[in-house]
Amino acid sequence: MLEPASLDIERIRDDFPILHKPLANGSRLVFLDNASSTQKPQCVIDKEIEVYSEYYANAYRGVYRFGALVDDGIEGTRKAAANLIGAAEPEEIVFTSGTTMSINIVANGWGRKFLKPGDEVLVNEMEHHANLVPWQRITEETSATLRYLPLTSDGRLDLDQLDDVLTDRTKLVAVTGMSNVLGTIPPIAEIAAKAKQHGALVLVDGAQSVPHMPVDVTNPTIDFLAFSGHKLYGPTGIGVLYGRRELLEAMDPFLAGGHMIAEVHRDHSTWAELPAKFEAGTLPIAQAIALGTAIDYVTGLGFDAIHTHESHLLKVAHEKLSAVKGLTIYGPEPAHKGSIVSFAIDGMHPQDLAMLLDRKGAAVRHGHHCTMPLHTLLGVSATCRASFGVYNTEADVDVLLEGIEFARGKLRLA
Ligand code: PMP
Repeated sequence: MLEPASLDIERIRDDFPILHKPLANGSRLVFLDNASSTQKPQCVIDKEIEVYSEYYANAYRGVYRFGALVDDGIEGTRKAAANLIGAAEPEEIVFTSGTTMSINIVANGWGRKFLKPGDEVLVNEMEHHANLVPWQRITEETSATLRYLPLTSDGRLDLDQLDDVLTDRTKLVAVTGMSNVLGTIPPIAEIAAKAKQHGALVLVDGAQSVPHMPVDVTNPTIDFLAFSGHKLYGPTGIGVLYGRRELLEAMDPFLAGGHMIAEVHRDHSTWAELPAKFEAGTLPIAQAIALGTAIDYVTGLGFDAIHTHESHLLKVAHEKLSAVKGLTIYGPEPAHKGSIVSFAIDGMHPQDLAMLLDRKGAAVRHGHHCTMPLHTLLGVSATCRASFGVYNTEADVDVLLEGIEFARGKLRLA
């Protein structure tokens, strides 16, 4: 197998102005909260400025010049997003406000219409609340059942139990492409193949996987894929729902209003063609256009190269963190994970640790990371999470470790 070309990380870092801005205490920003949101390269920032300062107008409404430029920009992003994930056609790309909205569109548009009493939706305890709570609500409303595929003790999906919980009653498997806490990358191909045998659909929450590894909705066949622009080095407020055309056509729209209609009469309406049917109201225009710039940027770096770089950082972080006294890493070995490491240290509250790490310039997240059922399973109320992006370096891992030692001293831990 050909090794992906290695990345020039220092040059990449130069693309991100925020990384070169000294913090108030003079320290360097060591941004290790990329699973929450990523920093933006200058080209993305410039694109938003360009839209607002050179041709801003509303989208899909004006025949005047600026309206056409905006429409072209948004449709350019739609094509880029379709290429990014291997969608058959740009119309299968629906712009949403992010992963949460994307999954809610499926739960409400597909689930409410097609789930019946006795049907089952299969989830698991490592899902983000965004891929859990919508399914709780819609299964309750339709008298369908929410079932859980158990996890192994090291935080992977327990595929040995898949045959017990994935049956002909299963109508949809909702699964993460990468856990935002454990980093686990589930074997989507295996799960999708089993789901197909039972006629179940597969929805992948790609919030963490799409920004960090190659994702192709045709290999294995994924029915729905959701992701957010802001975790992909792009703007906030814009995300994607991919759905296979026949499914999007069969579903009901979730939000109703302008732009999503074909005809409106006094007593009823009909829906616009895809993807407008799911894009009621005004899109976040500059953000949608700049998402295309972000996609071009990361695609230019290459997802294989990004994955290789981040996997290396994860391995180094695992090795170094494992040597820290009293530190527990949650989740499997690096071979089964993306670049996320969640941990806790005996005698140190994750919030105290996060605050003390901040004094050294290291930004990490603490808390339950929108995965309360997972934390209940782990038997802890909170963890600290370091998550790497393409601009992180081994020196960043070292700052994390120095910060932990600093915190240990401050908290007077032996
Ligand atoms: N799913 C996963 C796995 C996530 O990590 C996140 C964000 N933390 C979401 C869904 C929700 O994404 P957003 O807030 O952009 O809708």
